[in-house]
Amino acid sequence: MCGIVGYIGKEEAAPILLDGLEKLEYRGYDSAGIAVYNGTDIKITKTKGRLKFLAEATNEGLSMPGTLGIGHTRWATHGAPSDINSHPHANESGTIAVVHNGIIENYLFLKDYLMKKGYNFVSDTDTEVVAHLLDHYVKKYGEILEAVVHLMNRVEGSYALGIIVKENPDEIIAVRKDSPLIVGLSPEGNFIASDIPAILKYTRDIYLLEDREIVRLSRDGVTVYDVFKEPIIKEITHIDWDITAAEKGGYEHFMFKEILEQPKALKDTISPRIHNGEVVIEEMKMTDEEIKNLKKIYIVACGSAYHAGAVGKYVIEDMARIPVEIDIASEFRYRNPIFEKDSLAIIISQSGETADTLAALREAKKNGVKTLAIVNVVGSSIARDADNVLYTWAGPEIAVATTKAYSTQVSALYLIGLLFAKKRGTIEDSLYKETVKELVSLPDKVASLLKDFDKIQNFAAKKQNAKDIFFLGRGVDYATALEGSLKLKEISYIHSEAYAAGELKHGTISLIEEGTLVVSLATQENLFNKMLSNIKEVRTRGAVIMAIALEGNTEIEKEADFVLYVPKVLGNLAPSLSVIPLQLFSYYIAVGKGCDVDKPRNLAKSVTVE
Ligand code: GLU
Repeated sequence: MCGIVGYIGKEEAAPILLDGLEKLEYRGYDSAGIAVYNGTDIKITKTKGRLKFLAEATNEGLSMPGTLGIGHTRWATHGAPSDINSHPHANESGTIAVVHNGIIENYLFLKDYLMKKGYNFVSDTDTEVVAHLLDHYVKKYGEILEAVVHLMNRVEGSYALGIIVKENPDEIIAVRKDSPLIVGLSPEGNFIASDIPAILKYTRDIYLLEDREIVRLSRDGVTVYDVFKEPIIKEITHIDWDITAAEKGGYEHFMFKEILEQPKALKDTISPRIHNGEVVIEEMKMTDEEIKNLKKIYIVACGSAYHAGAVGKYVIEDMARIPVEIDIASEFRYRNPIFEKDSLAIIISQSGETADTLAALREAKKNGVKTLAIVNVVGSSIARDADNVLYTWAGPEIAVATTKAYSTQVSALYLIGLLFAKKRGTIEDSLYKETVKELVSLPDKVASLLKDFDKIQNFAAKKQNAKDIFFLGRGVDYATALEGSLKLKEISYIHSEAYAAGELKHGTISLIEEGTLVVSLATQENLFNKMLSNIKEVRTRGAVIMAIALEGNTEIEKEADFVLYVPKVLGNLAPSLSVIPLQLFSYYIAVGKGCDVDKPRNLAKSVTVE
């Protein structure tokens, strides 16, 4: 998590750093700081809280002159959010300043070592050891690049680092391992950043850094080195998407804008992979033989991506008849899973940088399992490490709570399910054709759900004081319930839980009281009567029912207090539609409660720590 930005060039650095940090604030927002070299000294300003406090403290950057600097917006892992724990951190003499994204896992050992050498620590962070250790190595080896190489040999964990040194007033040093960092190149100056939107206003030419590559940025050039300090040739990646894609464009919240962008995101993800009614995934490098021989699929992800994977399990098992195991990445990577021959790991991550998911991917590869990544960010670590990549073309997603990236992940899993089913001969031709047709029509169906918001907004207004909300569903509706529940709790702070509808009576039904809201998904025609019975069970115990059902299925009205209909669609594809009213319901509840919808408390967008 956290956003790093750095600039060296002809312009004043501080306003550029603040501007970049604003674009990165979705990555962490509990404190922020900048360090600028003013021609004589390194000056640091850092403040707890949102970026606007830093902008105020520096008079929009004007009180910090200088054309070289680094900035940071923090998502605290070690040490509470406070002025002192904010980055940049410096050595005692203030000649080295560091911003860090990640976790230095052996920081206690290093802190102890440095304290014995007489170093004093002022913060509770793991990052401060980097500043002091660099000081130690610069004194020992005489120059910063060598010091960084030694630092890399000593620190364990994950890091993206931006470093400035008073004695080297014409350069920024940066390095990464398991935390994202890119370099931006322009005639006006050069940049480092955690993510592309931070620098897109200034340049479209970037270097994607690999783990353990060290970069030296000067005003008129950038050199990348390997761990032996040997210069390496990097290829420039040209970014062709527009900055407006990462701006609010008149909407009050990114989340709402991104909800509305779903028809386009789905179309961009699905259409290029359908040729004459057939699913063709050109990026897929697996041979037909490999697909036919598949014995098992592991879907590994975190958060909403895991919920997309839950839809994938139902759909792939149903269509392609391959056993699918879904796993939370942080569990998968440490639980010694049984890797079977002829299996495939599908790894899902919006950012492509999710620390646990990346580690799970590497674990699968190490054990000889083929990997297929579903990723939104081009060139991200997971995309680069996986054997196959299926990009979701959702465009930049800024709101912390995912909407369009989730939807495109689900559609990517439909594509995979259909492709595998066809190659393996496990789907009847007529059903295959019908499913492809319906898949292509999903963007329009989603668009039809994004026209009239009054009904859902009014209902949400009545429920914003709810304490507990339950989400129920069967089959793929259960997978959607998981996502609906997470969406609600992450942005509105209302406690909610999702249950497979048949499971509630094995304990949780005791929590249902007079007036408890139960959101019930009932889009699966083959399970409709079972679902109706479950709705009756909770209603008898006082629950208020909000139901999501397919258009025309008015029978549900007998048992529900409030019904939202989605267009008729094949059961397997229903999650793409039923999630839309759930996103809107959460959004309106959070707005009604006055919550910070785009930046919910304690969260950050790209989870690059484990
Ligand atoms: N571990 C560091 C800290 O807690 C960096 C956290 C981040 O990536 O924002 O300060």
